[in-house]
Amino acid sequence: MERIIENRLQLKKRVLVVDDEFINRRLLEKIISEKYEVLQASDGAEALEIIKENRNTLSLILLDLLMPKLNGYELMEILKEDETMNRIPIIVLTSEKEAEVETLNMGAADFIQKPYDVPEVILARINRIIRLYDSINILNATQTDQLTGLFNKDYFIEYVGVIDKYYPERAMDAVAVNISRFHILNEMNGRAFGNEVLKALSDAIRNCVSERQGIACRNSADRFYLYITHVDDAEALRHSLAAGISSLVKDADSRINIGIYPNAQTNPDAPKRFDCALLACNSLRSDYKSFVAFYDAEMYKKETFAERLVSDFDEAIREKQFIIHYQPKFDVTGDTPYLASAEALVRWKHPELGMISLGLFIPFFEENGLIQRLDRYVWQEVSNQIACWKKKYGFSVPVSVNVSRVDIMNPGLVKEIEGIVEEAGITPNDLYLEITESAYAEDSDRVVEAAGKLRSLGYKIEMDDFGTGYSSLNTLAVLPIDVLKLDIDFIKHLHTSPKSLRLIELVVDIARFLGASVVVEGVENSEQYNTLKNTGVNIIQGYYFSVPVDSEGFADFILERIAYDNRQKA
Ligand code: C2E
Ligand code: CA
Ligand code: CA
Repeated sequence: MERIIENRLQLKKRVLVVDDEFINRRLLEKIISEKYEVLQASDGAEALEIIKENRNTLSLILLDLLMPKLNGYELMEILKEDETMNRIPIIVLTSEKEAEVETLNMGAADFIQKPYDVPEVILARINRIIRLYDSINILNATQTDQLTGLFNKDYFIEYVGVIDKYYPERAMDAVAVNISRFHILNEMNGRAFGNEVLKALSDAIRNCVSERQGIACRNSADRFYLYITHVDDAEALRHSLAAGISSLVKDADSRINIGIYPNAQTNPDAPKRFDCALLACNSLRSDYKSFVAFYDAEMYKKETFAERLVSDFDEAIREKQFIIHYQPKFDVTGDTPYLASAEALVRWKHPELGMISLGLFIPFFEENGLIQRLDRYVWQEVSNQIACWKKKYGFSVPVSVNVSRVDIMNPGLVKEIEGIVEEAGITPNDLYLEITESAYAEDSDRVVEAAGKLRSLGYKIEMDDFGTGYSSLNTLAVLPIDVLKLDIDFIKHLHTSPKSLRLIELVVDIARFLGASVVVEGVENSEQYNTLKNTGVNIIQGYYFSVPVDSEGFADFILERIAYDNRQKA
C-alpha cells in the first residue's frame, strides 16, 4: 500500500546498493542517484539490517554475490522466506555467466554485468524492473481488502472458478455472513471500533475457511462471502464465527446472520451463487429470532419485491405516495368508551402495486436507513394534520407516531422533532411517541437519554410491543415512560390461553406501580373487549373500534368526540 501512496506523491524511490567494494558502490550511485535515493551496504549482514528497516519503502536491491559475512546467495535465501521482504525485486551484480542462471532461478529479477560499461543501459534496466514490480505490487494490493486482508470480491470470484476447475466433484456451499445492525454498532462506538469488530470476524472466517478447504472475501462493509466444502451443521459454523467477535460485542451470538446456498457448485454462474446466499442472509433481517437461512425460490420473489420498494422510495416521498392512516384509541375506563387519541400508521399508495402495508418492509428500511426519512416525513404530515384539525374544529386528540430504533440512535432526534412541531404550530402535548420495547433492550442508555429529554419537553412516551423485548423489572422502574402498550400477541391468545389474561392483569399492576397507563392493541371483537374491560386496562385500540382510516375518515371520530364532550357538559 505504501507503494501506491508513494507513487501518488511521486517521492524519489529508494534503491539499496550492496557491494563490499567501495568503488563499485560509488559507480552505481553516480549512475542512478539523480533519479533514485541510494542506500548502501558493504556486506550481506549490514544489507539485511537495512532491508528490514526499510522493507516497506525499498523499491530495489542491487546485490553483489561475493561478499564477507553473508554472501549474496545466502541473503537471497533469507529474503525469499520472508513475506514482507520477498516482494522487493533484486538485480544481481555479477561478472560470472553461470551465476546469472543460478540467481535468476533463485528469484532474482534481472542481472547487471560487471564491470559497468554503458551507464544508460544500466539505468534503463533498473527503471524497467522497478516499473514492473510496482505494477505487480499494485495488483497484489488490489487483490485483498485493506482492512481485513481477505480477498476482494472480484479476485474471490476468479478463485472460485479455479476451485471449480480443479475440484469439480466436490460439494461446495456458498455462504454469506452479515453482522446484523452493524451500522448501529458503528454509530454507537465509532468507526475504529467497528473496524476492530470486522477484523476479528475476518480472523474467525479465515480459520473457518482453512478448516473447510475454502476461500473467503469481504464483499462490502459488514458482508462476507465464503466458499467452502459442504457444511452439515450450519449452527456450529455460525457459532464459531460469532465466537470470534464475542470479546468485543456482548450479544455476538444474536448478531451473526448466515445465508447458505447449499451445493452451489451445481449453478454454473459463480457470482449468482453468492447473490443467492446473500438473499438468504438478508431474509433474516425481518426476523429477530432466527440466524441461519437457506436459499430457495420463494425467497427470491420476496426479496426482489423489497428491492423494488427500496428503489422506488425517493420518488414516493417526492410524489407523496405515503399516506397516513389513523387508528383511533378509545378510553375504556368509564361507562362509555370515548376517543382518546390515535396511532398514525403509514401506507404506501404505490402507483403500480397498489396499497402496501409497510409492516413487512420496516426491517429493510431500518437496515438501509430509509426509515429515518420515512419517519420524518410521517411526523411532519401528522403534525400538519393535527394543526389543520385544530384550526377547523378548535379541537384535536393527540396522535402517536412510531419512532424506529434507528431514529433513537440519531443524536439530532430531539432537535428534529422539536423543529417539526414548532413549524407546524402545534405543541408537544399533541404528539405521543411510540418506541418499541426491543429498542430499549438493545441500548437502554441511549433510549433512556433520548426519551427522558423528550419527556421533559412535554412529549408522552409509549413503550410499544411491550412483552417482546425482555425488559427486566429493574430497568422498567427507571425508564422514562408514560404508557405501556401491550404487544398484539397477548390479545391473540386471550381466549385460548388462561395465562394471557393473567399476564395482562399483571402488566396492569406493574403499570400502576410505575404510574403509567396501559394500552391494548389488536382487540377485534366484543368477547375480547368485554374480558379486557374488567382488567383495569385504560385504552383499547383495534378493529373492534375501527381499522386504521384516512384523515377524512378520522375527522368523523373527532366530530363524534366533540359531540360526546358536549353531552357530558349538558
Ligand atoms: P405496530 O406499531 O405494532 O402497529 C400495529 C399494527 O397492528 C398495525 O399494522 C395495525 O394496522 C395493526 N392492527 C391494528 N388493529 C388490529 C387488529 O384489531 N387486529 C390485527 N390483527 N391487527 C391490527 P400496520 O399498520 O401494518 O403496521 C405494522 C407495523 O409497522 C407497526 O406495528 C409499526 O411497527 C410499523 N409501522 C407502521 N407505520 C410506521 C411508521 O410510520 N414508522 C415506523 N417506524 N414504523 C411504522
Ligand atoms: Ca406502534
Ligand atoms: Ca405494537
